[in-house]
Parts: sequence; structure tokens; C-alpha cells
Amino acid sequence: MSGGAGDGNGDGNGAESGAERRVRIVVEYCEPCGFEATYQELASAVRDEYPDIEIESRLGGTGAFEIEINGQLVFSKLENGGFPYEKDGPEPQRLHRQVLQRQRVGAAAETPTGWTCRDECKYECMWLTVRLYQQGGHRVPQFHGKWPFSRFLFFQEPASAFASFLNGLASLVMLLRYRAAVPPAAPTYPTCVAFAWVSLNAWFWSTVFHTRDTALTEKLDYFCASAVVLHSVYLCCVRTLGLQRPALISIFRAFLLLFLAGHISYLSLVRFDYGYNLVANAAAGMLTVAWWLRWCLRQGRRLPHVWKCAAAVLLLQALALLELLDFPPLLWVLDAHALWHIGTIPLNVLFYSFLMDDSLYLLKANSDLFKVD
Ligand SMILES: [Zn+2]
Repeated sequence: MSGGAGDGNGDGNGAESGAERRVRIVVEYCEPCGFEATYQELASAVRDEYPDIEIESRLGGTGAFEIEINGQLVFSKLENGGFPYEKDGPEPQRLHRQVLQRQRVGAAAETPTGWTCRDECKYECMWLTVRLYQQGGHRVPQFHGKWPFSRFLFFQEPASAFASFLNGLASLVMLLRYRAAVPPAAPTYPTCVAFAWVSLNAWFWSTVFHTRDTALTEKLDYFCASAVVLHSVYLCCVRTLGLQRPALISIFRAFLLLFLAGHISYLSLVRFDYGYNLVANAAAGMLTVAWWLRWCLRQGRRLPHVWKCAAAVLLLQALALLELLDFPPLLWVLDAHALWHIGTIPLNVLFYSFLMDDSLYLLKANSDLFKVD
């Protein structure tokens, strides 16, 4: 990194061939620590003051903000603790020294709640950056697309993790109630039970993801959520069209499975594209809402329980809009995503209640038909 070992062909005394040697500054910084903004600030100040100087950056290790001039290390944050300018007051310097001390204790050291030294460093650097932004009167930034959250024990986002767990619990309780109340002979029984299992699986991974956000838990959360969205389309299709058309429902099921496989393959093998994932899930969600509502409007007079379905899907859509209000977490705990997860708990209960009433209605309608026959 520093010093240049002198093995290059341009390192000799006269090797610059008379051309005036340009000053080149390279800043190596830690991106997870949020130091990109500090680099940009420094780079624009240098460019304004000394337009002839080249300044560029490269990504460095945890806590790094290292400055080289023409290959010589002139400042090291890892060594000194603070940033190379005066407005970095004593408080941030003290915090950084603590972080560095912990780093030196050993990178493999873990806290009793499972946070590694690197996690600790990222976390402390994040709060340090938040404090610096607040001191400067700036808006608190997001870190890698996420607001800063106060951890609780081993929970990274305690509110969303707890709400996901409660959603899973609600799905489990309603699955048990459904199975206790509805005989397996009901025409939609297998589809409703499968829907409950697919939902339970998704809430489990949502709890895991909000407890510990890693590349793997994020994928599992997203993919399992997409499976719920597609199963909702399938459930809607079975109930509204498929009961008299088993062939159509088989084709539609195969299409949805293929789509899910393609969706997961694209996101995991080609590119994890957040925008595409959002659009795909939102489109499938809107299709289901429109489809259910059309059916509810037609059946409303005949079937008194369909109001539960209409209310659940409409409120779910309204809640989804909450996600657009992307505000910094209240008390660094409660953000829009956590509110969305909290809001879906009663809606889950209401939707399962509809499924239960509807399955019992279909069972009764079927047996009445046999009696007439
Ligand atoms: Zn979530």
C-alpha cells in the first residue's frame, strides 16, 4: 500500500523524464462506517483549492480513513483515531479510540449477544456519524438503505422483528383454529392450509432477517415474501375461478411456480435488483386486490362474510402505502416498515376468519348440492 517498493519502472530518479510530477492524493476509507461523505467533502475542498491535484479514493477496511500523497501515507485514522480536521471534537475522537481498542482486542471476539467486533465497529461508527450529522444540523442519513436502529440484545431491528414474530404467531393460531373448525372435505381446505404454511414460513424468515440482516437472511425474507404474494394470487384464483375448472387451475399453478423460480433465479444468480423486486411484488399484490374486490362486489349480497375479505385486502393496500412514508425511526426503534408489520397482525386474523367462514360456506353449499342430486 504505502511507500512503493521501488520495483516499478518509473521509480528511478530520472524516470519522470523531465515532466513535472503531479501531486496525487489517494484516500482509502471504510464505506460501512459512512465515511464516503467525509471523503467527498475533503475531495471537493481539495479540488476547489488546488485544481491541479488529483484526488481519488479506494475502499478500505473497517474504520479506515487513510490519506496517501504520492504513495506516502501522511495520515491514518486507524492510527490517530480522529479525522484530520479540527471540527472533529473530543467526543468523536474518544468514541473512535474505543472502537479501535476493541478492534485491537481481536477481530474474532464476539459479544455475549453474538455481535462480532466488526458489527460493533459498524454500529458505533454509525451512531458516531449520526451524532456528527445532528451536531452539524444535517438530516440523519440512511446507512446502506437502512435507517439507524437501536439494537436490543441480539435484535437488530427490535420492532420489526417482534411484529414479524407476532404475525407468525397470529398465522399459527389461525391455522390451528381453521383446522379445528373446517373439515378437510371443504373444497378450498388444501389451498387455505398451504397458504397458512407459506405465510408462517415467510414470517419466520422475516423475524430472522429483522433480527440479523445478512445477505442470506435478506434473500430468504424477500423470496419467502414473494412466495406469499404469489400464493395469494393462486388462492384468489382457486376461490373465484378454479373450483369448477381444475384444468385451468393446474395451468395457472404451473405458471406461478415457473414465475417464482424465474424470479428467485434472476435475483440470486443475475442481480439482486430491489427496484424490480418491488415492482414485481407490487404488481402481483395489486392484481390480487383488484381481483378479490371485483369478486367481493359481485358476491357481497349473497355471501355476508365477504366483507371480511374486502376489508382485509383494502386495509392491507392502505397499510402498504405506509412504506412510502420513509421517516427516521421514532426513538430509533419505530419506523414505517415496523408500523406496516404491526398493522398486518389484525389483518391476518381478519383474512383467516374470512377463509374459515368461506370454507364452511362452500362445504355446506356442496353438501346441499349432493342432497338436491
Ligand atoms: Zn420486514
